[in-house]
Amino acid sequence: LPDEFITALPILTTITNAGYEAYFVGGSVRDTLLGKPIHDVDIATSAYPAEIKALFKKTVDTGIEHGTVMILDHGEGYETTTFRTESGYTDFRRPDEVTFVRDLSEDLKRRDFTINALAMRGNGEIVDLFAGLTDLQQGILRAVGDPKERFHEDALRMMRAVRFSAQLGFTIEANTQQAIKSEAHLLAKIAVERTNVEFSKLLLGKDAQRGLLEFAETGLYQYVPGVISEHELDIIAAATALENVRLTSDEQAWTFVVSQLGLDEAATMAFLKAWKHSNDLIKTVTNANRFIRTYKAQAVVTNWDLYSVGADLSIALSVLQITQVDFPVDQLQQAYAALPIKDKHELAISGQDLIKRGVVKPGPMMGKVLAQLEQGVVAGEMVNEPAALLAQAAKII
Ligand code: ATP
Ligand code: MG
Repeated sequence: LPDEFITALPILTTITNAGYEAYFVGGSVRDTLLGKPIHDVDIATSAYPAEIKALFKKTVDTGIEHGTVMILDHGEGYETTTFRTESGYTDFRRPDEVTFVRDLSEDLKRRDFTINALAMRGNGEIVDLFAGLTDLQQGILRAVGDPKERFHEDALRMMRAVRFSAQLGFTIEANTQQAIKSEAHLLAKIAVERTNVEFSKLLLGKDAQRGLLEFAETGLYQYVPGVISEHELDIIAAATALENVRLTSDEQAWTFVVSQLGLDEAATMAFLKAWKHSNDLIKTVTNANRFIRTYKAQAVVTNWDLYSVGADLSIALSVLQITQVDFPVDQLQQAYAALPIKDKHELAISGQDLIKRGVVKPGPMMGKVLAQLEQGVVAGEMVNEPAALLAQAAKII
């Protein structure tokens, strides 16, 4: 067992010694069986939340109405959720009602895919009610129960399917895939933020190519935010471009997306807003994409282009490397490193200096002069020394 389980074992023992059942469940069990590192350990139990709270000194009600209590132990937090069933999904996203139950099988039944419906006892024994182990071995994503019904209950599961296919490199089983095709339109009901989380994970998956092809083939792409629905062929081209490449950060992944979609600056910003990205990400991606568009339009870039993209250059270069043949990445990196200045604060003269020397008066002219000095220095047309810049400023005036 991985360390994360070992340190959580005393919690399972405390619960079972009190006469309840407790299991490790969810992604950590799946990933351990796949030999992958795990992040968080989820525990499922027959004990009701009040019963859990009576057993442990320190707990936090992180989601008690859904049965989740966080147990604090040796500085670690363990999410413990009472076995439950869900019913009612009138809105295709959240159950109208959750009911706590004492039976593990009821809890495993409500989970999305067979590989996510495995439970593990403290001794490592696996409870496998839906042949999830076979699917895990064969690399198959299969809905638990009737796929169409399951996607009706919660349409996000369809995005989770294509996300897991990208992360794990798994095939979506035929009936499950068929159900995604017929129910894909329900994805439009899901909050953009949640779809975004799944799509971002897909892009960063080790087999993003597979995930994107499933995303296109199932028709899910027609029901996500922004203009993706108009770009089926670009999605397939993007998948092809990711053949032997792995995207490594959200910023890089979304820069890749907007550049594949061929979006201009205004369209890029509107697109990222529609996906409810943070202002920070929008700024970085827009900046990197501007550089990419300039390079693609001209196959050369100026010092000013390099200076303007600044620290986001590495993202722009990494995305260009994915799609451009014989892309001169080293040359551009060297050109950036060789820029006379990387920031306007590095100019050898300031507005204060220009006023003190009586070259420029405070006022609107100042911004103009400083901008011209900045451009001159970046272009290598002016030497970044106080005397030289004073002389240049006097000429501009
Ligand atoms: P990750 O590695 O991304 O955390 P995960 O499988 O652990 O993957 P979580 O969102 O953390 O995903 O969910 C934990 C478990 O809860 C899942 O393994 C699955 O059993 C269940 N689950 C999560 N979301 C859903 C859903 N929308 N429908 C049904 N079951 C779900
Ligand atoms: Mg998880």
